[in-house]
Amino acid sequence: MKRYDFIIAGGGMAGLSLAYYLSQSPLRDRSILILDKENKSRNDRTWCFWEEQPGPFEPILYRKWNTVEFFGTTYQGLLDIGTYQYKMLRGIDFYDHLKHHLAQFPSIEIRQATVNRVKDTPQGGFVIADDEPYMADYVFDSTHALKLDQPENHNLLQHFKGWTITTEKPCFDPTRPCMMDFRVEQHNDCRFVYILPFDERTALVEYTIFNDQLLSDEEYETALRGYIDRFLDTGTYTIQEKEFGVIPMSDEPTTERAGRHVVRIGTSGGYTKPSTGYTFQRTQRYLHEIVQNLVRNGKPKRRKSWFRQGFKMYMDSVLLNVLQYHRHPADDVFTRLYQNNAPAQIFRFLDEDTTFAEDLKIMTTVPMGAFTIAAFDVIRKRVIRAYPDGIRPRNKHWLPGKA
Ligand SMILES: Cc1cc2nc3c(=O)[nH]c(=O)nc-3n(C[C@H](O)[C@H](O)[C@H](O)COP(=O)(O)OP(=O)(O)OC[C@H]3O[C@@H](n4cnc5c(N)ncnc54)[C@H](O)[C@@H]3O)c2cc1C
Repeated sequence: MKRYDFIIAGGGMAGLSLAYYLSQSPLRDRSILILDKENKSRNDRTWCFWEEQPGPFEPILYRKWNTVEFFGTTYQGLLDIGTYQYKMLRGIDFYDHLKHHLAQFPSIEIRQATVNRVKDTPQGGFVIADDEPYMADYVFDSTHALKLDQPENHNLLQHFKGWTITTEKPCFDPTRPCMMDFRVEQHNDCRFVYILPFDERTALVEYTIFNDQLLSDEEYETALRGYIDRFLDTGTYTIQEKEFGVIPMSDEPTTERAGRHVVRIGTSGGYTKPSTGYTFQRTQRYLHEIVQNLVRNGKPKRRKSWFRQGFKMYMDSVLLNVLQYHRHPADDVFTRLYQNNAPAQIFRFLDEDTTFAEDLKIMTTVPMGAFTIAAFDVIRKRVIRAYPDGIRPRNKHWLPGKA
């Protein structure tokens, strides 16, 4: 059986990013096997994220913008994102660039194979792919499918369908992407359109919903067509590409460390920010930390502040609770967040870079009644999660009448 230093199960965003950081580190000569069932030759997704400094994928960004537009309930206009840039990376550019980069390292091997099994053993991480067994000191797994079905947690989905369209008339401003346009029928959910303009005649227009029910293909397309006809003066238009995606928005606990030698990464590792679905930057940050620790002490551990992360997770749960139980119209919640705070501060908040005091200040700008009810309901759900059989005194002799 062939043994490697590291096996990366799943060569998508997280897997290839991890291989990239390893290749940039003193561990670049370690033997690394990347396994993926696909050859990653399709432009299957578009990533957007914000950053203040140039990042590792700067040369392959498709577009970047210094400002973004927002259409909410009581505010419509540009958001001042300060020193941040809103960046867009096409899936295909990322896959091509990283495969090309990794090909320079003879110790890194990419193999197209379906992973059937990942298991922790005393000797290391064990993988079976296309019936071949492999061992490694550490297996980094992004192929594990999350279940996310426990009712005491909040399990929403962010689902969206987008069209890249080319229009007859110039109708886009290429300097103004639209992060959220809530001028669409809400159907008691959270629904908005997202626009990434490439030039005056070409843009990705995406219809997005946060709820727990996927739509039929026809329903997404009717909504997209309706939005384009109503708000964009396109003349005729042609659809160049289509994108569909589902991202978990869940506070269900995930297992990042699936064993001594198995670490789950990316969506499988719970790296998605529950309240927004943004995963790209968090994954870069977490993987960078894992590689730093591997270099420093040979262990793929991430430093976690339980209080800090616990509080951030609690705030995610509260927002999910407001959305899931329709405690306040979602378009108004997001409008208040962006209108009553500096948008750059909201970016920092979503990146979990704000202090406890800053978090509390931001929390005063949301609808207080709805968020207070949600805050208590989250505590109630956490208690149920911790004590599924109810809270009972440990020593039965303490019960009245049993002394
Ligand atoms: C259409 C779309 C758009 C998105 N846009 C954004 C965005 O703008 N910003 C953002 O922050 N996040 C976004 N996300 C969320 C997230 O960033 C992506 O889903 C991201 O690709 C997750 O990275 P990952 O490595 O965890 O999963 P993936 O990139 O999906 O990688 C997993 C890999 O594992 C492989 N695989 C799965 N099962 C097996 C198996 N059994 N054997 C072998 N290989 C297997 C797959 O082929 C895939 O290559 C988007 C998601 C989607 C779907």
